[in-house]
Amino acid sequence: MNQEADPKTLHTSRSPRKQAESIGYIDVLIVGAGLSGIAAAYHLQQQCANKNFLILERMNSFGGTWLSHNYPGIRSDSDLHTFGYRFKPWRGVPIATADEIRRYMAEVIEEYDIDQHIHYQHDIRRATWSSKLKRWQLEVCNLSTGKTFSLETGFLWMCSGYYRHRSGYQPQWPGMNQFKGQLVHAESWPNDLDYKNKRVVVIGSGATAATMIPAMAKHASHVTMLQRSPTFFITGRNINELVQMLRELDIPADWIHEIARRKILKDQAVFSERCIKEPDLVRQELLAGVRAQLGEAFDVEKHFSPAYRPWQQRIAFIPDGDLFAAMRENKATVVTEAIESFTPDGILLKSGEVLQAELIVSATGFDLNVLGDIVFEVDGQELDFAHCVTHLGAMFTGLPNLIWVFGYFRSSWTLRADLLGDYVCRLIKHMDQHGLSMVVPRLREHEKDMRLQAWVSEDNFNPGYIKRSLHKLPKQGTHLPWLHTQDYALDKDLLPQADLNDGTLLFQ
Ligand SMILES: Cc1cc2nc3c(=O)[nH]c(=O)nc-3n(C[C@H](O)[C@H](O)[C@H](O)COP(=O)(O)OP(=O)(O)OC[C@H]3O[C@@H](n4cnc5c(N)ncnc54)[C@H](O)[C@@H]3O)c2cc1C
Repeated sequence: MNQEADPKTLHTSRSPRKQAESIGYIDVLIVGAGLSGIAAAYHLQQQCANKNFLILERMNSFGGTWLSHNYPGIRSDSDLHTFGYRFKPWRGVPIATADEIRRYMAEVIEEYDIDQHIHYQHDIRRATWSSKLKRWQLEVCNLSTGKTFSLETGFLWMCSGYYRHRSGYQPQWPGMNQFKGQLVHAESWPNDLDYKNKRVVVIGSGATAATMIPAMAKHASHVTMLQRSPTFFITGRNINELVQMLRELDIPADWIHEIARRKILKDQAVFSERCIKEPDLVRQELLAGVRAQLGEAFDVEKHFSPAYRPWQQRIAFIPDGDLFAAMRENKATVVTEAIESFTPDGILLKSGEVLQAELIVSATGFDLNVLGDIVFEVDGQELDFAHCVTHLGAMFTGLPNLIWVFGYFRSSWTLRADLLGDYVCRLIKHMDQHGLSMVVPRLREHEKDMRLQAWVSEDNFNPGYIKRSLHKLPKQGTHLPWLHTQDYALDKDLLPQADLNDGTLLFQ
């Protein structure tokens, strides 16, 4: 793969292939060609070579998140040693741009000849399960022709992510339509947006805002980060010193990858535990990090000390402190205030202060979606996903032959995509060995009255997009396997050993 290739053109359908319309039946259908979908294809190919499979992808290329986001500075928040796949060493700096991530994915697609299995511009709209036929019937729209057709599959591997691409969550404020400048959402960034020499207000202070502000500050006249409440940030060099040293010693790349992953995961586990055991101390350390960037005179408590404890929401990593450098150079400012209304020239704050702007950017988060916005029906009954109980955070009561890859909040998403790859392949092989064609989680007799709780406990992790959507998400129970633990350290031992015969999975 040419490292200099333009990632925007890194999509090809070189291999001749049958039209999806004429396939009729496929053993496994993977929904989505993002990081999870490509991982699923890799694992299936390596571990269940006898299964034929397809990836259907709504967009016109692979990458998912890393294709649909194009705001200035777009980059990962996690290090690519753990956000990259277990099976493919990452050779760059830890925090990567969207283009670099897509180049890496393109290499995987090419090395494992996955391209021939992907059908782009195919949107799955409806999935209907028949217990009699023991298969899913899918209604698929070929977006390039507008034609809808049907396709059947034995197993649905949902790698559809967790939010709606290209449209984000847009809160409403009085006077929004009076604003004479331009209002854009980070999730639907116009390619030709010109912000050179403009006064910009970015509403929000999560990872998206923190990424785009230093990039925009280079060209804008000024950028204000307007936040209702603060976010925790952590700064560090965009370099992994251990990896650097191992590279200098000419250690093989796959060893370096494995060593780096173990070290990073160990450090993260220690940090996560400290956030629970000694949150006040961690808070002070995080604030001291910001103070070191912005100076003693800066009101760090007001602007960078959130009401929640560290890790209750994602902590945004600021590589090389670039956000704070923009603030030191006075190219960017932070304002912590509620909005009263929009005005023709900007934003009026509750305090009465006005922020003048020619461009306002909403970095206000995304709209969570469930199961790719597909309408599900099981034996003639439309499914209400909120009534299902999760099995290991991956399968659901009442939903046969289906896995949903939902990654971690605190660790890299892809860690779970790899773990679930092994789990699904083990499950499929088990079913083959025993001549079974259906698996569905079911509560055991003594669990029928189990107390149910939200998919994610608010105390554990509570960002806005989760709180807004909890009513759409399935429930979890009180004990394993009915929990969605969000804990990689637990999953890495639990999933490979999870008992398929403990009575919580009904096979036929
Ligand atoms: C800006 C941003 C930065 C992020 N940074 C990180 C990070 O640093 N670390 C981290 O761990 N996580 C990060 N995340 C979370 C991120 O989304 C995941 O880590 C990861 O990229 C998700 O991969 P995925 O393949 O599961 O889902 P996605 O990337 O969302 O891809 C899903 C794919 O499925 C397709 N699809 C969905 N429904 C259908 C359908 N019905 N029919 C056909 N196709 C369908 C979509 O078009 C899409 O291509 C970030 C998220 C955002 C928005």
